Amino acid sequence: MTHTAPAAQDTPAPPVAVPITVIRGDGIGPEVVGAALRLMEEAGARLDIEECVAGAEVFRAGNQTGVPQETIDSIERTGVALKGPLETPIGHGEKSANVTLRKLFETYGNIRPAREIPGLATPYAGRGVDVVIVRENLEDLYAGIEHMQTPGVCLSLKVITRHGSEKIARLAFEYARATGRKSVTCATKANIMKLGEGMFGRTFDDVARDYPDIEARQILVDNCAHQLVMRPEQFDVIVTTNMNGDILSDLTSGLVGGLGFAPSANIGSETAMFEAVHGSAPDIAGRDVANPSALMFSAAMLLRHVGQPDVADAIEDALLYTLEQGDVLTGDIAPAGTTPAGTTAFTDAVIGNLGKVPATGVRRESRPLVMPERTWRPKAIEAKVREVVGMEVLLEQAGMPASEVGRLVEECAEGSPLRLALISSRGTKVYPGHADDVEMIETWRARFVRADESVELTDEQIFRVVGCLGQRFRWSNLQKLQVFDGEPGYTKVSGEA
Ligand code: NAP
Repeated sequence: MTHTAPAAQDTPAPPVAVPITVIRGDGIGPEVVGAALRLMEEAGARLDIEECVAGAEVFRAGNQTGVPQETIDSIERTGVALKGPLETPIGHGEKSANVTLRKLFETYGNIRPAREIPGLATPYAGRGVDVVIVRENLEDLYAGIEHMQTPGVCLSLKVITRHGSEKIARLAFEYARATGRKSVTCATKANIMKLGEGMFGRTFDDVARDYPDIEARQILVDNCAHQLVMRPEQFDVIVTTNMNGDILSDLTSGLVGGLGFAPSANIGSETAMFEAVHGSAPDIAGRDVANPSALMFSAAMLLRHVGQPDVADAIEDALLYTLEQGDVLTGDIAPAGTTPAGTTAFTDAVIGNLGKVPATGVRRESRPLVMPERTWRPKAIEAKVREVVGMEVLLEQAGMPASEVGRLVEECAEGSPLRLALISSRGTKVYPGHADDVEMIETWRARFVRADESVELTDEQIFRVVGCLGQRFRWSNLQKLQVFDGEPGYTKVSGEA
């Protein structure tokens, strides 16, 4: 059955064209971005497009970031970008151009909707999957702070801040409100990482109090992955830390048909960048076979963001209608035995279907997203009482038994206000106690605490002990143990009393 919706051209368009930056990108980027631009134009989008470059060619031309200044200037001017996938060619550049863009424009939120596509055969078809992952986009292990302690031991820092957690939680609730959603679920690994992931979850609970109209739930991320596979229809919006979100959002894309249909928005206080989740798919680049749907859905998200929801609806309706009809489909989803359409033919079909709406699926309401205020400054969270109660040093133990390491380390604390509390290996206590059967790795962490709790520890006292340790072992990492308003700012070691 065909329903006819008012053509986008019949609805009032904003009086002025909205400036946006377009980056066609690498691999299949030019094909899928080109398809989305044609569709937007035919649907009546009022855009003033600034074309810019980033990615492989820019790296090859000698720019180590993959993002030229003109592109940065354009995005600063427009505040909105539609981008194709970007590659970092082997041997060029330290960091990916995508990560550079996200960090440069502080796009702290990554919004990835996954909604059942009418007519698309998947194991979940008919269950009404309609879930959005709101992923923190700048912190966590993706801050990219890693240090080799020895040639065989690496420490990767997982950075979680109260400020970053608050911003992403607010964005998730605002997004839920703007799209008429009922619940936001916070997925963490707070049972293991009680301080970092735990703070993310506790901050979510605090922010949730400002949104009494939306149900707020907590879930452990491993259970969340399980539940998403078993009963995905129970979820509405899921907010989570960077790596959890990276993984969960690929999972949710898979539930509704895969990367060819997964759009995303990178949202910051002043900038929003819209792109498909998929990459440049170099194996199919330049062959007119790529599925442009993900970029088209991303374009619809962009149009809602810039206040043209009528055009966004027209694009989504035409695209969903085309997919539902199922007679013109790209090779990634065309049923076996049928002739797949190319990118161009598929785009022509979608354009030809502008004005039609799919028979199945309900259009989601959408109001403009209220962005959390930029005026939020990282408010330093002050403790009334802050105490340094000890320190930890990472030592290279060079094949000695734990008892011998323990003796040498204890000697260094003699005569100081510190005493050795324990030595641990990969978070498990190996000294004092029965340790020689624990598998030896080359770095051990020596934890010292105050011998007398009434004494204030000074940096000088700490450095004196570290100096002694440095004469006996290689050391590579020094960490103060602090207590804030009576709450330990460090976790216990496994096996610690
Ligand atoms: P990918 O480009 O997403 O491609 C993986 C496979 O998925 C492709 O080989 C193709 O599979 C299929 N595919 C992806 N998009 C498709 C589409 N629109 N239509 C039809 N099939 C599609 O992932 P990758 O191979 O891991 O990454 C390639 C490059 O892209 C890398 O340089 C990576 O760094 C970059 N990348 C960029 C972004 C971004 O800019 N945001 C994101 C991810 C990856 P078939 O073999 O079945 O054809």
